[in-house]
Amino acid sequence: MSKRDYYEVLGVDKNASKDEIKKAYRKLARKYHPDVSEEENASEKFKEAKEAYEVLSDEQKRAQYDQFGHAGAQGQGFGGFGGAQDFGDFGGFGDIFDMFFGGGRRRDPNAPQQGADLQYTMTLEFEEAIFGKETDINIPKEEECDTCHGSGAKPGTKTKTCSHCNGSGQLNMEQNTPFGRVVNRRICHHCNGSGKIIPEKCGTCGGSGKVKQNKTIHVSIPKGIDEGHQIRVAGKGEPGVNGGPPGDLFVVIKVKQDDFFKRDGDHIYCELPITYAQAALGDEVEVPTVHGKVMLTIPAGTQTGKIFRLKGKGAPNVRGYGHGDQHVEVKVITPTGLTDRQKELLREFNEIGGNEATDEQDSLFQRFKNAFKS
Ligand SMILES: [Zn+2]
Ligand SMILES: [Zn+2]
Repeated sequence: MSKRDYYEVLGVDKNASKDEIKKAYRKLARKYHPDVSEEENASEKFKEAKEAYEVLSDEQKRAQYDQFGHAGAQGQGFGGFGGAQDFGDFGGFGDIFDMFFGGGRRRDPNAPQQGADLQYTMTLEFEEAIFGKETDINIPKEEECDTCHGSGAKPGTKTKTCSHCNGSGQLNMEQNTPFGRVVNRRICHHCNGSGKIIPEKCGTCGGSGKVKQNKTIHVSIPKGIDEGHQIRVAGKGEPGVNGGPPGDLFVVIKVKQDDFFKRDGDHIYCELPITYAQAALGDEVEVPTVHGKVMLTIPAGTQTGKIFRLKGKGAPNVRGYGHGDQHVEVKVITPTGLTDRQKELLREFNEIGGNEATDEQDSLFQRFKNAFKS
């Protein structure tokens, strides 16, 4: 299934402002709205634009899309964008009082509420982050009680509306003050703000409607993931309240360092030690990469610090845009612990003037010599 890039769909660039995105969407919506458009495939095009707009107009979704692409938006185990629903505030006239008296906004206790999001930190080995993996994690989380299905009431019995607050979960206390009559709202202490009374509590959960359980959750780690990335597993957070949807689980990724490879985004860096003789005479050497060994030709006269690029031998791009490269920096190792014979040969080598090797080095030697004259 190939999906067009959302930015491409709307015809805006990656840095487009909210306004630009809105404008672009409106234009497309007018053009392709199925009620008015006579264009071919208008309804698909309209849907495509709408989907792109829904993601790019939401800061959080846009950030996730920028980081993970469609994998972030649709991929299985990677969390979709569809799960989160905002049930809004159910504030009535009472909110006006709260605004003046700092009562804080309260929701209708009977309204559906989305469950809380959970966060889990996962530490991956260096290569696991590069190649991705399928894994199960075990997290303690609250689940809806199977016995009472979340109501908190013993099976066969029912919860009742709290008669003190009439189910609102709040009590209005009217007071006369020098400024006139004010209404002060408090949480109903008869029902603890739930608006409900449970005459016979469920024996399994003790009336809370939830039980704490160790839950196994499958997580797909996409290849190319990196330190600090987050994977959203939709609907795997805490259960919702009053029939609201569950929250999401966010898996935060940490990646262990490797002794040899260093990673920066899609590129991998390493240092390759070679001998003085290999550097001067040239050689073919084996270089480890995360994709296996690669033969690298060291040309004669290679200087320390020279960087060779092994194309495509880096990490895969997490959004599916190819691979990075491996950059190999040559380190010429000065020999130590020489035998008498080796020392003799090197002295002889030095005397016959084998050091003036390249123009680059000549000029460095020249600048070095010049420094003594001034
Ligand atoms: Zn009450
Ligand atoms: Zn229960």
